[in-house]
Amino acid sequence: MSKTFVFKFGGASVKDADSIKNLSEILFNRLRNQLVIVISAMGKTTNLLEEILLNKYRHKDFSSNITILKSYHIDICKELFDENSSIFPIVSNLITQLEKQLERELTKENYDYFYDQVVCYGELLSSKILQEYLCSQGYISLWQDAREIIATDDNYRFAKVNWEETKTNCRQQLVPKLQKFPVIIPGFIGRTSTGNSTTLGREGSDFSAAVLASCLNAQSVTIWKDVPGVLNADPKRFSDTIKFDELDYHEAAELTYYGASVIHPKTIKPLANAGIPLFVKSFLKPEEEGTKIHHTDKNNNIPCIVVKDEQVLVSFKVTDFTFVNEGHIQEIYQALNDLKLKVNVFQTSAISISLVIDRQEFKLEKLIQRLQDSFQIRYNEGLQLLTIKNHQPAIIEQIIQGKEVMLEQITRTTFQVLHKPVLA
Ligand code: ASP
Ligand code: MG
Repeated sequence: MSKTFVFKFGGASVKDADSIKNLSEILFNRLRNQLVIVISAMGKTTNLLEEILLNKYRHKDFSSNITILKSYHIDICKELFDENSSIFPIVSNLITQLEKQLERELTKENYDYFYDQVVCYGELLSSKILQEYLCSQGYISLWQDAREIIATDDNYRFAKVNWEETKTNCRQQLVPKLQKFPVIIPGFIGRTSTGNSTTLGREGSDFSAAVLASCLNAQSVTIWKDVPGVLNADPKRFSDTIKFDELDYHEAAELTYYGASVIHPKTIKPLANAGIPLFVKSFLKPEEEGTKIHHTDKNNNIPCIVVKDEQVLVSFKVTDFTFVNEGHIQEIYQALNDLKLKVNVFQTSAISISLVIDRQEFKLEKLIQRLQDSFQIRYNEGLQLLTIKNHQPAIIEQIIQGKEVMLEQITRTTFQVLHKPVLA
């Protein structure tokens, strides 16, 4: 049986020099061959890279963003390394490559492609820095470019994994390295067959870890977070949260679908299919148990609250004096599918269809363009979607109190409310 283990550390666990030292301490007594360590970009680097792209697209000056990106990484390195360390030319080199990418023309048409060629540098930088740091502390680990392993299609920003090729790459390139040393690998990124960088969707490093674990038939995956495990609500937003000691794959998947950001939604499926347990543990309290997600009959029935921000409510009114029918729904779903937009809530009435979707650059505009001849379309942005699984009347009452409700939906197990948050 394979003895491979996969660890994944997110942006918060590498956000500054102290965090990297803490991460290394967690690793020191756990480092071994057959360990894959998947790393996200440091702190909010991906957001910063997105900002650079938007500024470039709007023909605004982004040089100050580049300076921030550069000094953020270099300052962390200064705290971690000697001044002669080889990390400094490595970081400078990666940033020069990034600047080269940004010299090219960016248009609405090539935006997603361009995004992936630029945004991948966040993970390239963080993984290189961590690997060099471990080596400087006397712990040998190897670095592996994820783009040589994770093969994808060219659906930029939401690339789909080519499992067969990824498995072959794992066997040929990763396994031989793992037999000798732990391997550090950037999360979130992959590559097309033509050699372009791709990304797997925001927060996609969890999914990278799951893909690698599945292809390597690993023993387990551990996602290290700044929370003690999977909780029934986000502790940054709610008090009195409860930690789950264990959760069934189905239940965990459902929570991620509603927006529980503790795990990326695509992470569960490959692990559940392969029966690989997923542990969610705290990098602040690494000795504590965390949550184990696996096949279990145990039903929690604990109310869970999930919050999703930046939601858009779009309503489509039928204009031809008919009622909403299958044809209308089909037309809307076809457009959503073509634009790769996921619906978070769907509701119909006699003459209109309402949808809740995530806000995504340009997508709403394209959706409206596509459907404006068939429907009268209205939309509201900046909304928040609250989902309660295993709802109870008292919790619903507490949650909707004082809120400007735009839409509500209730089933036996799930209550959802879309509202306009009051700006602080
Ligand atoms: N750095 C990427 C993001 O922030 C991927 C990840 O963190 O998992 O979306
Ligand atoms: Mg991140």
